[in-house]
Amino acid sequence: MRRLMFSFALCVLAGSALPAQTPALTAIRAGRLLDPDAGRILTNQVIVVEGNKIRDVGPSVQVPSGAQVIDLSQMTVLPGLVEAHNHLALTYKPVPENNIYYYTYVQESTALRAIQAASNGMQMLASGFTIVRDMGNNGNYADTALRQAIEQGWIPGPTIINSGIIIGGMGGQFFPTPEMAKDHNIVYPEYLDADTADEIVKAIRQNILFGAKVIKICVDCKPYGYTADEIRLVIREAAKSGLKVEGHVQTLQGAKNAIEAGIWSIAHSGALNEEMHQLMAQKGIWRAGTETPEGIAGHPVTSDAYKRTVAGLKNAYDNKVPLTFSTDADYYVEGKTRGELCLEFLKTWKDAGIPNADILRAMTINGYKVSETEKTRGPIKAGFFADLIAVPGNPLDDVDALKRVQFVMKDGLVFKRDGVMTPAAFFHGGPVNGWRIR
Ligand SMILES: [Zn+2]
Repeated sequence: MRRLMFSFALCVLAGSALPAQTPALTAIRAGRLLDPDAGRILTNQVIVVEGNKIRDVGPSVQVPSGAQVIDLSQMTVLPGLVEAHNHLALTYKPVPENNIYYYTYVQESTALRAIQAASNGMQMLASGFTIVRDMGNNGNYADTALRQAIEQGWIPGPTIINSGIIIGGMGGQFFPTPEMAKDHNIVYPEYLDADTADEIVKAIRQNILFGAKVIKICVDCKPYGYTADEIRLVIREAAKSGLKVEGHVQTLQGAKNAIEAGIWSIAHSGALNEEMHQLMAQKGIWRAGTETPEGIAGHPVTSDAYKRTVAGLKNAYDNKVPLTFSTDADYYVEGKTRGELCLEFLKTWKDAGIPNADILRAMTINGYKVSETEKTRGPIKAGFFADLIAVPGNPLDDVDALKRVQFVMKDGLVFKRDGVMTPAAFFHGGPVNGWRIR
């Protein structure tokens, strides 16, 4: 023990004796720079990145001497994209589980799923998603492990806003057999049972202790779902630790309760009618609609169901509900990465007739706000973390340009260049950003 402490002290001493490293300087020449807030393109901009932050941006910014220059003069540079509802440590598949995610939980360990999450995170980043809200169904906190691994500097990946385990009335979204439910050892820990006020408080504290950055509840997965008062308790307890609450909502009464309580965001759109949309707009409640398009192989959506999804999204837009781009795409489609699969959801937004500028706002500005990074990460502005991407063409004219991301920078490091992932700079044999990051 003493020897260990002694060598630890030596390491600290050696570390402090090293000369401070000068942060790397990079200058990006952006032929076009998309400002999603204003919905316009600026031309011939220079972005100077120092270390992990943007130092300067503008048309007359000088390239500092000694800076590495990245030429994106033929591209449109834009801030990183946000996926507001995914499950990176869950991938259900045609084989062996016939896309029934119930079986995924039985067959795959949290450890395996954490490694899948690391891979899915890189796949998201390669498609330009620099922030992902990871909303539960991630085994025994594989989502926290993923966030910590990225933040500590072990692997590349998006900034993760994770919920830990979904909290709900007994059973969560599942219908466990009595044998499963009694010992809590088969379909758990996908859900935290919280039926009473004490259990609700305890479940929220458990999630926060184990690394959640947002709280996710099942509002109405069971007939004994949460009342508006119970949701207020969730919001109050989460707020003590500075966290917001997202509700999975699937019934009109659930939507009413969640909106009345003043929840931060509502996941899924099936239960949201015009009246709910108007209330959400009034209260500024985020809509994470998870609008599955038709045509995804192995995940058929009936034509009627798709028409309802499109009409619902259009109705939300017309009623000025704050919209986020969110997919719930937590399955394997052959030939597609997780990021490519998420971008397929652009179809629903286009079919709803939402202007490209507003689709881009939902994927950027609104995404930063629902993730609460808007003051530190997202916008391409001096002082913000250097997360940015580049595509050929102009996404304001053709939003499908986002499917051709050629360049990705995350925290000032180049992750993808000329359409090829180049993540070497992200990999380390230790927690280079600090092991205290929890
Ligand atoms: Zn989900």
